[in-house]
Amino acid sequence: MEKQTKYGGLDAFKIIAALLVVAIHTSPLTTYSPDGDFLLTRSLARVAVPFFFMVTGHFVLGGVLEGEQPVSSLWRQVKKILLLYLIAVILYIPVGIYAGHYQDLTPLSALRLLVFDGTFYHLWYFPACATGLLLVYLLSRVLRGWGLMAVTVLLYFIGLFGDSYYGLSAALPPLAAAYEAGFQVFSFTRNGLFMAPIFLLLGARLGRKPSSVPAAVNGIGLVLSLILLSAEAFALRHFDLQRHDSMYLLLPVVMVFLYRLLLDWKIQVPVACRTLSTWVYILHPAMIVVIRGFAGAVGLTALLVENSLIHYLAVCALAFLAAGVVTWFLSRRHPPQPSRSRAWIEVDRAALAHNVTALQALLPPGRQLMPALKANAYGHGALPVARELARLGVTAFCVACLEEGVQLRKGGLKGEILILGYTHPDQFPLLRRYKLTQTIVDFPYAAQLNQFGKTLPVHLAVDTGMHRLGEPSHHLEQICQIFAMKHLDIRGIYTHLCTADGTTPQDRAYVQRQVQAFSQLLEELKNRGLPLPKVHLQASHGLLNYPHLPGNYARVGIALYGLLSSYGDLTAVEADLRPVLSLHARVSTVKPLSPGSAAGYGLAFVAQRPTQVAVVTIGYGDGLPRSLSGGQVLIHGQRAPIIGRICMDQTLVDVTDLPAVQAGDQVTLIGTAGGETITAYDLARQGDTITNEILSRLGPRLERIVI
Ligand SMILES: *Cc1c(COP(=O)(O)O)cnc(C)c1O
Repeated sequence: MEKQTKYGGLDAFKIIAALLVVAIHTSPLTTYSPDGDFLLTRSLARVAVPFFFMVTGHFVLGGVLEGEQPVSSLWRQVKKILLLYLIAVILYIPVGIYAGHYQDLTPLSALRLLVFDGTFYHLWYFPACATGLLLVYLLSRVLRGWGLMAVTVLLYFIGLFGDSYYGLSAALPPLAAAYEAGFQVFSFTRNGLFMAPIFLLLGARLGRKPSSVPAAVNGIGLVLSLILLSAEAFALRHFDLQRHDSMYLLLPVVMVFLYRLLLDWKIQVPVACRTLSTWVYILHPAMIVVIRGFAGAVGLTALLVENSLIHYLAVCALAFLAAGVVTWFLSRRHPPQPSRSRAWIEVDRAALAHNVTALQALLPPGRQLMPALKANAYGHGALPVARELARLGVTAFCVACLEEGVQLRKGGLKGEILILGYTHPDQFPLLRRYKLTQTIVDFPYAAQLNQFGKTLPVHLAVDTGMHRLGEPSHHLEQICQIFAMKHLDIRGIYTHLCTADGTTPQDRAYVQRQVQAFSQLLEELKNRGLPLPKVHLQASHGLLNYPHLPGNYARVGIALYGLLSSYGDLTAVEADLRPVLSLHARVSTVKPLSPGSAAGYGLAFVAQRPTQVAVVTIGYGDGLPRSLSGGQVLIHGQRAPIIGRICMDQTLVDVTDLPAVQAGDQVTLIGTAGGETITAYDLARQGDTITNEILSRLGPRLERIVI
C-alpha cells in the first residue's frame, strides 16, 4: 500500500478526528459519567471540525492566497466539495424522511438547509467549507496579512456570541434581536460565515511555512490551552450561557498548537486514510440509524444503544467498515498512479519560475516570452510545464506540430499556440477547431491555407539565411501578396537565426546579416502601408547573445529549461538559469560477478575483480543515449560507472565500491544526489550532442512529476 510521510501527522489525525466526530454524535461516556462525556464530546472533541477546515485551508487555499496556484484550482476544489455534498444530500434523503426532518419544508427553508444548516445534522460542514473558502478568497482580494486575519477573527467572535456565549448576547436586547434575525437565516452561527473562515485561513498560513517553534513548546501549549478550553466549556455550562457548544474562545489557540504539532509529526500512514475519514464523516449518522434499527429488531437495544460506550464502538466499527468499502470501491475506479516506481522525471516548478523571471528580466518592457513547448516541452512534459507557465502569466506558446498544439488545448491551455512547422492541408480544419496559429512556411503554402476558405490566424515565417522554413526575405512581391490573401489573419512575422549560439566573428556577422535582411523587409512592408503584426526572431541563444534585438516575443526553449545547448557556451548576458529537470530510476537487482565473467549484450563488460552489478530500470527506450555506455549515475549520493551496453529498458552499473546497494534504491541519471551532480551537459558531451537532443528524446514511458 502506498505510504506517505510528509503530512503523515495530518493523515493520522484525520482518523482521530473522525472518531471524535462520531463521539460528538453518540456521547459515548454518558452511561458512566455525564461530566466525563461533556469533557470529551462538548469540549475536547470540538477540535475535530476546525481541524478539517484547517486541512482544507492548508491544501486548497494556501497556494492560491500566495499566488502560487491559479484561482481555477480553488474553483475545482469547491466544485469537488459541492459534488461530495450533493452525493451526501441525496444519500440522506431517505434517512431524513425516515427521521421526519423534511416535514413542512418550504422552498425557503429548503434553501436554508442547503446553504447553511445542511440537510442532515452533520452535513452543514460541506456548505460551510465552500462558503468559507469563497469568503476568505474574496476578502483576500481586498485585505492581506494581519488585516485579513483580523476580519476572520471578528467573524469568529460574532459566531462565538451566537454559540456558546449566546447567554451574554441574549442579555442585551438589541444584540439579541440582531442574532434572532440571523437565526431566521441559519440555525447556528457555527457555519461558513462565522466559523469556517478563521480556521481555513489558519490552515492556509500554518501550512505554508515550517514552524520555528520547538515541538515541546507546541506540546505544552496544546495541553495548557486544552485545559483552559475545558475550563471555559464547564464555566459556560455552569452559567448556562451556551446556546450551542461548537465555538470557544480558546479553540483557535488550541488549533494553532495542535496543527503545528501535527505538521511536525513524522508518521507513516497509508494514503487511503485520507478518503476514509471523509466517508466516516459522511456515513456515520446513517450507521447510527442502522444500529438502532438492528438493535430494536433483534432485541439488543439495552446493549447496543443504551450502553453509550458499546453504542459508540458499534457505530465506529460499522462506519469505518462502510467507509472502507466506499474507499475501496472508489480506489478501484481510480487505480493509484504508479509513482516513482520505475523511471521518472522530476520537474522543478521553482526552478522553472526562477528561469521565467530571469529571462523576463532580460526583455525590454512590452516584450514577452513565447516558450517553446515542442517535443513534449523538451522532455519535461508539455502539459504540466504549460500549466505552470500559464500560472506564471505566460500567454503565448510555440510548438512544432499540430498534434502538440491539440494536446495542449485538450489539456485546457488558453492563449496563443503557434505551430512552428508544417501542417498538412487535410488537417486545416483542426487548426480552426483548436484555435491554433499556423506558420506560413512559404508562398505556395500560404496560397493553400488561403484556399481553405475559412479565416485562420497565422504567423509568416521569413527565411533570412537559415534556408529552412520561410519565404525568402527578398521575395517582397510574394510576401506582399501573402499579406493581401483574404483568409489569412496574419498576426505575426518571424525569422530564425542559425548562428546565434556561435561566438566566432563569422557567426556574429551572419547573425547581423540575417537581422539586417529581416529589418529591411519590415521597413519595406511598413513603407507599403501594411499593418505590421507581432515580430519575433530570437530563440534562447538569440536572446542571451543579442538581448537588444527588437521584437515582440522571444521564443525561448532550452534556456527556459535552465540550460544552454552546450556546456561552456558563452553568452553576452549572463542569465542565472537553473536546470528544471532531473531523471531517476531504480535498482531492480544487484548481482555478483566473479573476475573474468562478463555481462550484458555482446558481453561487452568483463569483470576484472569481484564485482557487484546493479541492474537499473531505464534504457535507451526511455531516451537514454546508447552512447552513454561508459558514463556515470548517482546512487546514495555517490558516482557509479555505467558498464557494458545500455539496453532498451535497462542499464548495468558497477556498484562494487558503493556500500549496500539494494533492489529498490533510487538512481539519479540527471540531477543532484548527496553532494554530487550529473548534468544534461555531461550526457550531451558523452553522447557527442547538445542538451536539447538529450532532453527532447526523453520518452513517453517516463513518469513526469512536478515538484
Ligand atoms: C525550437 C525553436 C525555438 C526554441 O529554440 P531554443 O534554442 O531551444 O530556445 C525557437 N524558434 C524556432 C523556430 C524553433 O524551432
